[in-house]
Amino acid sequence: MDPNRRQFLRGAASAIATTAAAVATPVSEAVAFGPREPKTLPPKAVGMLYDSTLCVGCKACMAACKQANGMPAEQPEYLAQWNEGTWDAAQDISGKTLNVIRVYQDGTMAQKDREQDGYAFVKRHCLHCVDPSCISVCPVSAMQKHPLTGIVTHNPDACIGCRYCVYGCPFNVPQYQFDEPFGRISKCQFCNHLQAQGKLPACCDVCPTGASLFGLVEDLQAEAEQRLAAKPGETYTFPRGKLGGDRPSHEAPIGHYQPHLYGEKEAGGTQVRYLTGVPHEKLGLPKLPDHSYAAVSEGMQHTLYKGMVAPLALLGGLVFLARRSSKTYGGEDPTRTDEEDASS
Ligand code: SF4
Ligand code: SF4
Ligand code: SF4
Repeated sequence: MDPNRRQFLRGAASAIATTAAAVATPVSEAVAFGPREPKTLPPKAVGMLYDSTLCVGCKACMAACKQANGMPAEQPEYLAQWNEGTWDAAQDISGKTLNVIRVYQDGTMAQKDREQDGYAFVKRHCLHCVDPSCISVCPVSAMQKHPLTGIVTHNPDACIGCRYCVYGCPFNVPQYQFDEPFGRISKCQFCNHLQAQGKLPACCDVCPTGASLFGLVEDLQAEAEQRLAAKPGETYTFPRGKLGGDRPSHEAPIGHYQPHLYGEKEAGGTQVRYLTGVPHEKLGLPKLPDHSYAAVSEGMQHTLYKGMVAPLALLGGLVFLARRSSKTYGGEDPTRTDEEDASS
């Protein structure tokens, strides 16, 4: 190995050890990389309760979402010969689809909302996290959470296309449009443009069964708990559109729910709740810890950068190394052996 390189590597190891020693005290004082305080729901947080047992898979919500957000139809290759725009066969959310209904199937598919020999529907879009990772990782604050409603929006004018949000989201929601010349991030913004006009999010507005129900998160939580507490099969009055709104409700037997209300705690909690008859993992809803990833990563970063001790120590070490290395490069003794270098 070149002696200069060896000396530099040796010195770098020493600088890293010095840096580690420098950060040891603040780290132990900060009780070793704990997550920061979790964030809580904003005061007027709005959200959605999606009840999979009420969903009939009509996909009216998908069509309404496209219309409300100016999204084009998607056509798979095998339908390319059909009239452009006639079919919208989105398989998942994408740059052209903000909301998708997916189907779970097992065996004979004889019964709805049953794990075995059954089928079920599940809706997929942004869950408007309480403590969103997409916001935490965005270097230019292009993702924002409304301080009152908690809706998470994306500002394309601020976005630099780094795609950190794509990789940071635990629900794999933000989609990057590679087929556009300058790229673009897409995700459900909870139809905030419609809400600003006093209207409902398009998907909740058109849902015929109330499977997609809009409301204040606290009220939706209470509604979901009430459904979970009801006896499966008993008649229940299901609201439609907006919880507490004036639309006619409808009566139906209540479903056999999974006991866990998905979205309440996952990744620090979200503003969307899921009631399902089939286990969540089977529906593609990921198993996640109760804490937000943003709280953990920001807690670690704040510990490391506390007082700027670690970065300054590292910078100082590297500057020292660079200076010593440049001096050595000019006045090195080529007659020294590797053993002499190693012992110096
Ligand atoms: S689901 Fe993903 S994109 Fe939506 S708020 Fe949470 S982290 Fe952001
Ligand atoms: S809230 Fe609006 S953008 Fe989001 S899934 Fe529903 S219709 Fe689409
Ligand atoms: S509109 Fe309602 S019932 Fe129809 S697919 Fe969407 S969520 Fe399900």
